Amino acid sequence: MPAHRCMGLVIRGADVFNTSRVFTVFTRDLGRVEGIAKGSRRLKSPFENGLDLLSICDIVILHKGNETLDLITEACLVERFEALRTDLPAMYAGCYVAELLNDLTHLHDPHPRLFDAAVITLRNLSDQKLMWRRLMRFELALLKELGLMPSLELCVHCGNDLQRESSQGRIAFGLSMGGVLCMQCRHGQPHVATLSVTTLWLLRSLANPGREWREIGDYRDESAAREVVSSVICHLMGRRPRLHRYLLSGSVG
Ligand SMILES: [Zn+2]
Repeated sequence: MPAHRCMGLVIRGADVFNTSRVFTVFTRDLGRVEGIAKGSRRLKSPFENGLDLLSICDIVILHKGNETLDLITEACLVERFEALRTDLPAMYAGCYVAELLNDLTHLHDPHPRLFDAAVITLRNLSDQKLMWRRLMRFELALLKELGLMPSLELCVHCGNDLQRESSQGRIAFGLSMGGVLCMQCRHGQPHVATLSVTTLWLLRSLANPGREWREIGDYRDESAAREVVSSVICHLMGRRPRLHRYLLSGSVG
């Protein structure tokens, strides 16, 4: 039973027995793990505050096989995101990132790039103006990592290039197909949203490296992009994420 030391983001914690807690940690090297931290509820715990919710810790974990919980034997705090403790919309946004990681990744399925994307997102949530765009960037990074990225360039149905459609200013997006549709394919498809070319550019830039995503489009493009990404996520989860309600009530937009 080898011990593994790795960086992880604490996404969930629950009390068990008198002195222990079970934590779900999204680690960089091992993916999502669920482990028991024995004695972590004691006053003088060996973990101190190394396992705070939504913080990055350096943990040592013993993998006990697929049927049982892993064992967390050490944890040391590496980074805490202060905005998530003082700013309510940022905290909801952080919890939303945790919900997606918890519900959409598999146990012991590593995605180091997704871990890095989560850390960058959590570090920057205090900027209200860019908060929704940062969340969408994270959602798209997640979809990409899981191989479920919506098609934003070629028609999701026939693979045609959308050059002609782009020149007309409006593009059809099949919400249940998960991608843009050309004019031939849009008819007869259920759940089709119509996007402006700017909204599509915004979505593309949010999904790619670079900094254009900060500048493209206005508030309407941002809301339209949010609707598209949200419905892809809801479709994937089979329900609305629990944190959606809080995110919307806590946001200024
Ligand atoms: Zn087509």
